[in-house]
Amino acid sequence: MATIKTLKNYIGGQWVDSHATEFEDIINPATEEVIAKVPLSPQEDVTKAVKVAQEAFEMWQRVSVPKRGRYLFKLQNILVDHKQELAELITLENGKPVAEALGEVQRGIENVENAASVTNLMMGDTVSTAATDIEVANYRYPIGVIGGITPFNFPMMVPFWIFPMAIATGNTVVLKPSEKTPLLTERVMDLIEEAGIPNGVVNVVNGGRDVVNALLTDPLVKGITFVGSKNVGEYVYRTGTQNLKRVQALTGAKNHVIVLKDANLDKAVENIIGGAFGSAGERCMAASVIVLEEAIADEFLAKFKQAAEELVIGNGLEGTVTLGPVIRKDAQERTFGYIEKGIQEGAELLLDGRKNLPQTGYFVGPTIFDHVTTDMAIWKDEIFAPVASIVRVKDVKEAVALTNQSEFANGSCIFTNNASAIRYFREHVDAGMLGINLGVPAPIAWFAFSGWKNSFFGDLHANGKDSVEFYTHRKVVTARYAETDI
Ligand code: NAD
Repeated sequence: MATIKTLKNYIGGQWVDSHATEFEDIINPATEEVIAKVPLSPQEDVTKAVKVAQEAFEMWQRVSVPKRGRYLFKLQNILVDHKQELAELITLENGKPVAEALGEVQRGIENVENAASVTNLMMGDTVSTAATDIEVANYRYPIGVIGGITPFNFPMMVPFWIFPMAIATGNTVVLKPSEKTPLLTERVMDLIEEAGIPNGVVNVVNGGRDVVNALLTDPLVKGITFVGSKNVGEYVYRTGTQNLKRVQALTGAKNHVIVLKDANLDKAVENIIGGAFGSAGERCMAASVIVLEEAIADEFLAKFKQAAEELVIGNGLEGTVTLGPVIRKDAQERTFGYIEKGIQEGAELLLDGRKNLPQTGYFVGPTIFDHVTTDMAIWKDEIFAPVASIVRVKDVKEAVALTNQSEFANGSCIFTNNASAIRYFREHVDAGMLGINLGVPAPIAWFAFSGWKNSFFGDLHANGKDSVEFYTHRKVVTARYAETDI
């Protein structure tokens, strides 16, 4: 039997053993095989990594802006050459089908592309004559060491929301990947080294809550980017800000997708199948509640159910598979619990994802509940699995009012060709990322990933111009150059 490797930490360009006394199995969720072990690193490992990152910061902040951009161009090319390998690694540790993992890799690469254009992004503003002989200019500077804490569901895309822009703007980073899916980050560190990015600029400490707490309290850490569930995000935001750090925490979701009676139903079904069941529903942009205008509800549901039944469940490394497993056994059991609860609460179970599953692996089939109401747990809670709740409404106004009752406000979509309804939706819906006639409105890298309400804690979002603002602060210089002095 092959020996199972234990992951190390990556500090100052070296792979070093953690001082951990506890370890967690990294499991392939499609096969239930243990593929590696991850150390649950203690505070001392974080202290060391942060110190090294701080030393690297003294050097890296003075590297010219275009030179930092060139490192990222190099990394971008290397990533393109490794697309397939990276996608298969994502599938191995996360379970999503390779085709979807390739999409994720592409999203990661786009973040590097965007960060490589840092020359323009680092520019400040100037006024030549603010008063007689007085000019004012501002200059951007990096803030220091950034802690990046990421979830299991996008092992590549989410860390790439953090480190490319953080280092492009002159900061250094200590990443803590999800302990469930840390292998992709491990591989990326080798590629970062290949790109020639100096030692200590990007570091990795593996583990769980002890690593997070150490990052939140270390005075050398100046900014925290967190992506994960609502309760942990709220804790991270409160603790990080209490320790006087900048914090952005991107959290949970319950996204509503509205289909009006004039929509192209075939296209809507095709898109919403991807939105609801893609990545086994383990997406912060998943289409979890489908709000149907009563007039087309039965016709939509007949097509939707048929398309859901055509999904192929299995190991995402097999090319024909379109629905992989959820991440762990407890996630599977939790979802089965929600299905039972939905039945007890009186929703109508149209498709039961507990049936006809492979013997091995943490699978949940596509699940559809009709006649869901806002007092039910399946409407309120983020289930984070391939479970779609259907609510029927009489028109767009009722659909938007229903959507706005959710505590979350990450994404929301509408399917219609009625411009007035689209405008009504855009103006009134509570959500930071809207989709019009598409299923998953995740913004591209150069726009902010802008959840509202309990889907985000902080001021400046990840990605886009917000991320440049988050990872920099400014000096505003007011100068007098008197003509009378010549
Ligand atoms: P999680 O909150 O369990 O874990 C996220 C990170 O926090 C991990 O690195 C984990 O080690 C750490 N963590 C977990 N418990 C902790 C604790 N008690 N104290 C300190 N740190 C802790 O989230 P997850 O299950 O890995 O990911 C799924 C969640 O992430 C979903 O809620 C999903 O909506 C959310 N998510 C949000 C976005 C977004 O952009 N809003 C994107 C991706 C995922």
